[in-house]
Amino acid sequence: MKQILLATNNLHKVEEIKSILSGLQIELLSLKELELDIEVEEDGKTLEENALKKAREIFRATNIPSLADDTGLEVFALNGEPGVFSARYSGTKATYKSNCEKLLHNLKNVSEEIRKAQFRCVIAFVDKDFETTVEGNCVGKIISEMRGKNGFGYDSVFLPDGFTETFAELSSEEKNIISHRGKALEKMKGVLKQHF
Ligand code: IMP
Repeated sequence: MKQILLATNNLHKVEEIKSILSGLQIELLSLKELELDIEVEEDGKTLEENALKKAREIFRATNIPSLADDTGLEVFALNGEPGVFSARYSGTKATYKSNCEKLLHNLKNVSEEIRKAQFRCVIAFVDKDFETTVEGNCVGKIISEMRGKNGFGYDSVFLPDGFTETFAELSSEEKNIISHRGKALEKMKGVLKQHF
């Protein structure tokens, strides 16, 4: 069976990607399962640069076709922040909680109607003599307190359009159907079916 290495140390992402791509006849491996301790510096100016950099470096190190995701939360009232800096929004020692707290603080005087935001996810796939990227997004708004225990990152403050639950209050199956990562991976499924 063909193999793909998921170029991330984020176990939440590994779980989501494995679940969404589960229908393919491809064995999905994680860095942890292969006991690979590789940290790629995310110093690109765009999500696309970072996703490609991660997939290229992991492919170069392992020679296994590699898939990498880079995601940003873009808040319209903050001119697209935190965007490509989503992981370290509240500093080098940022946690999911401290990032959400900083975001809520920065939006504290911003009214309900203009708290629009989107998650944007770029997924890169790199194999020998082949590389491509796909993108997915999910539009919603940032609420004024954290709600829900599921998911990770900014899930507890993000209310997707058309829902009364935050991403962290939805089940993983419900999130995967409408999420930025779910949509990007649906596109990637088509690419992978053609490629292999
Ligand atoms: P990364 O650079 O792609 O790992 O993602 C940057 C940051 O965005 C992560 O540290 C999370 O805080 C956040 N993030 C990425 N994906 C999601 C998601 O699906 N839900 C909520 N937050 C996310």
